[in-house]
Amino acid sequence: MHDGDIIRRFVFDRFPVRGHLVHLDASWRALAEHHAYPEPIRRVLGEGVAATVLLAATVKFEGRLTLQVEGPGIMHLMVVQATHQMAVRGVARWTGEPPAGRSSIDALVGEGRMFVTVESEDRQSRYQGVVPLLGEGLAACFESYFQQSEQLPTRLWLVATPERAAGLLLQRLPSGASAAASEIEHSAADGDEDWNRIVHLASTITEAELAGLTADELLRRLFHEEDLRVFEPAPVYFQCACARERVSGILRSLGEVEVREILAERGQVEVRCEFCNRAWQYDAVDVSALFAAAEPASGPRVLQ
Ligand SMILES: [Zn+2]
Repeated sequence: MHDGDIIRRFVFDRFPVRGHLVHLDASWRALAEHHAYPEPIRRVLGEGVAATVLLAATVKFEGRLTLQVEGPGIMHLMVVQATHQMAVRGVARWTGEPPAGRSSIDALVGEGRMFVTVESEDRQSRYQGVVPLLGEGLAACFESYFQQSEQLPTRLWLVATPERAAGLLLQRLPSGASAAASEIEHSAADGDEDWNRIVHLASTITEAELAGLTADELLRRLFHEEDLRVFEPAPVYFQCACARERVSGILRSLGEVEVREILAERGQVEVRCEFCNRAWQYDAVDVSALFAAAEPASGPRVLQ
C-alpha cells in the first residue's frame, strides 16, 4: 500500500531525536520521465531527489535549495531543486553506457563533489556548502554535509525504484532541544545510548520496506516500542520553475550574432528545458524583440 507524495515529520517524545520520512510516487515519475535514464542513473537521481526533499525539510529557508553533484565519471552532473513549498525538479546528465547492474553514485560520478546551495526567493541571500563524494554513497555524503553545516549527527536511508523514491532521515538534536525531552534529566551518555539504539533500529530497514510500506507501517515496524509523535503529512510535488523570461536571459547572454546564426540555420530558435522538457520557441520576430530591448546580459546560466 502506498501513500502518495508526502513527507512526514516525527519526533521521539523521550529524547531529542527527530526524523522525516519521504515517499515520492507520481512526482518522482513525472520528474524522471523527461529523459531516457539508464537504470543505474535513474536510481541515483531518485535517491538524490529523496535526499534533497529530506534536506529541504530540515533546513529553515524560504526560496529554493539546490543539490548539485558533479565529477569526471559517466554521470557527470546531477541537479535537484526543492522549494520550501516542496516543489521538486531534477535532472542528471551522463555520457556513455553505465555498467549494467547496480552502481553506487561514487562509481557513476567518480571523484566528485556535492554542492548544496540555499537561496532566498529573491536570490539576494545565498549559502553554499560543499562536501567531497566519499566513496560510501549519497546517504553518507549527506551525513557528512549535515555534520559540517549544522554539526548535528544525522543518518539517512535512501531508495529509488522506477515507481517510487523514498528516504528516511534521523537527526540528533542538541540535548533539551525538544520540549518533551527537556522534562527528563538526560545525560550525554544517555543521549548517546538513545541515539545509537534509534539508529540501530532504523538500520534494520530493508530497501523493499522503505520503498513499499506506508509511513505509518514503516514507523510502526521500526519504532513500535518508542514513544513517537508523528505529524500531519505535507505534500511534495513535481513542478518546474522555467519561464520564458529566464530563457530569454540565456539567449541574450549567448549574444545576438550567435542567436541569429541559429535562427538562419533552423528557421527558429528552440531552447528545451532540461527539467521538464518544455520547448521555448523564438521566431525571427521574437529574436528581434529579444535584442531590441537592450537589457544587460547576466552571464550564461544553463540550469536555472
Ligand atoms: Zn522546465
